[in-house]
Amino acid sequence: MSGDEFRSAGHALIERIAEFLESLPGRPLTTGESPAQIRAHLHADAVLPESGEDADALLPAAADLLFDHSLFNGHPRFFGYITAPPAHVGILGDMLAAAVNPNVGAWKLSPVASEIEAQCVRWIAELLGFPTTCGGLMVSGGNMANFVGFFAARAAAADWDVRRLGLQDGAARRLRVYASAETHTWIQKAADLGGLGTDSIRWIPVDRQLRMDLDALRRSVDGDLAAGDQPMAVVGTAGSVSTGVVDPLDELAGLCAEYGIWFHVDGAYGGFAAMVPDQASLFTGIEHADSIAVDPHKWLYAPLEAGCALVRLPDRLRQAFAYSPPYYHFGIEANNYNEFGPQNSRGFRALKVWLALRQAGRSGYVRMISDDITLSRRLHAAVEAHPELEPFTQALSINTFRFVPADLKARTQEAGVSRYLDTLNRELLARLEAGGEAFVSNAVVDGRFALRACIVNFNTETHDVDAMPSIIVRIGRSADVALRQNELVPAL
Ligand SMILES: *Cc1c(COP(=O)(O)O)cnc(C)c1O
Repeated sequence: MSGDEFRSAGHALIERIAEFLESLPGRPLTTGESPAQIRAHLHADAVLPESGEDADALLPAAADLLFDHSLFNGHPRFFGYITAPPAHVGILGDMLAAAVNPNVGAWKLSPVASEIEAQCVRWIAELLGFPTTCGGLMVSGGNMANFVGFFAARAAAADWDVRRLGLQDGAARRLRVYASAETHTWIQKAADLGGLGTDSIRWIPVDRQLRMDLDALRRSVDGDLAAGDQPMAVVGTAGSVSTGVVDPLDELAGLCAEYGIWFHVDGAYGGFAAMVPDQASLFTGIEHADSIAVDPHKWLYAPLEAGCALVRLPDRLRQAFAYSPPYYHFGIEANNYNEFGPQNSRGFRALKVWLALRQAGRSGYVRMISDDITLSRRLHAAVEAHPELEPFTQALSINTFRFVPADLKARTQEAGVSRYLDTLNRELLARLEAGGEAFVSNAVVDGRFALRACIVNFNTETHDVDAMPSIIVRIGRSADVALRQNELVPAL
């Protein structure tokens, strides 16, 4: 492309993107199309074109394809999973990063980009109240950020050279990881990839508030020590993926200090709420962690992907990941990020996060995160007030609840009714998600199928939240009628 072609295609694309972003509240959240329909729009079976096309025509066509057949997590009524809208400055930041294209695997290849990443990591530590002398790096997301902490713990915990000898060596002991039953599935992938196997995970039960049970943890650790196993890490979750509950971090930190066990905090969802003054007490103890995972593509609103791993002692990262092959002569005068994690060549993920941190400042983020929490509490109150909705939990910006038809309200304890309510809410959710009006996902609370709204969305306004109960009840009623008519359910 010539400079002029780039300019004209770029200006036109920015214009379209700006219109798209402004139009989001008025668009359906999703088209609900099937894979076959989407493939037809894409001409998925077409072979690779022999000759090229003009970018001038190609980019608008690609934009239309995406704008017309996507699910928009930036829609003001998107409350599913934990997926945030992208900060505008982050969208532009990704473009700028791609234009300069620094390889942030080595300082020499990315002088200012490496320093921006280092500053971004320090600022994230500051937001969490974690020592800014820590080490850390940007990764693709929460899973990878947790893996980094996991591997740092593995190298630190083994009293044999686990990186060289692996886990089968005669000197090896069985490594054990402790996590609550509410922990995200990254822990299974990490135990698997790290060679420990998922059986090495000790699933610690939770108390009535869904927080890790300290006594059960202590019993489990004592039992493993008595059996000659090596405790590797305790994982505390700071904002669980299902219900937003924060484990008792301070007590966990105390127990880890007592036994000398690595303390890892999974703050992928909730970690950033530690900066909000009236939430901060929930996170007391996070400052004692050996490693923390957070997810800037959640509550910092970075466009996908951006995770961040922090490690209290910076050397722990090199001790877990660095090799120095003869073809690298990068020196150690500054961070060579290939030595801090699994990646070699690395993109400039930090830029979009760094730009957003500068644009919003700490106070901007405190306000945006507080707003999400306030909206979630407002939704919880509306659910409580509605006779056909049953609230379960509310923590940080997640609430769980279900639809209960009026005639079943008094009978929810009956086994048949309870099974029917699971089926009904599953059907309600499928209809809601396909309908494009709003989007929630699901959780299981005390064995019951629950609808789950997680508000990590700066586009959401109070009227969006206020509209939810009647949307859900309307769809719930019609799903109820349909299910009962089809006699898909055993007699109630
Ligand atoms: C989202 C999340 C993860 C996984 O993060 P990804 O960015 O999806 O890889 C892990 N743990 C918790 C608590 C999360 O909320």
